[in-house]
Amino acid sequence: MSFPNPTTSVKLVLLGEAAVGKSSLVLRFVSNEFQENKEPTIGAAFLTQKCTIGSKVIKYEIWDTAGQERFASLAPMYYRNAQAAIVVYDITKPASFIKARHWVKELHEQASKDITIALVGNKYDLVKNDSGEEDDSENSLRKVSIEEGQNLADEEGILFFETSAKDGFNVNEVFIGIGNHIPESN
Ligand code: GDP
Repeated sequence: MSFPNPTTSVKLVLLGEAAVGKSSLVLRFVSNEFQENKEPTIGAAFLTQKCTIGSKVIKYEIWDTAGQERFASLAPMYYRNAQAAIVVYDITKPASFIKARHWVKELHEQASKDITIALVGNKYDLVKNDSGEEDDSENSLRKVSIEEGQNLADEEGILFFETSAKDGFNVNEVFIGIGNHIPESN
């Protein structure tokens, strides 16, 4: 006789500047879809999605917060009880990386001390050339290097991924990576 795998619920919050692709990453993970001109999220949106990782089943309870400054003061309400956070920036927008650094520091100061954080540099598709390889010419749209992202993640002891919500690159890996990192007792 076999027993069903116990499902672990994980409250996860997305943070990052407006338009970096937070809602698009969630839409890709939950429905495997992409919308070119997404309506901005007002306040916060809530979605759930199950994810099987080996023998564990994780039910992600996802809070997708609005990036607009006027909602920033509400963020603590969403990350206070979160077990996981995804801090997103756009690899073509340096200001969004600076903002991501602030979010990571705020989480380390204010959120639960055992929160699992993933830093995500999104819109990787924008730096690929026609043959699907990274465009390393001076015309590349990339403005934040992979090393800058990795260094910040290493300094802060958090996970790091570059993704594309548009073509799906590495999106599931973010949620699997977080699931593997969540302490068993949760
Ligand atoms: P949010 O404000 O952070 O939730 O960002 P959205 O998910 O609303 O995305 C903002 C804009 O960026 C929309 O026009 C999306 O279609 C676009 N976008 C999101 N992710 C990607 C991506 O990976 N690649 C590209 N090229 N565009 C993206």
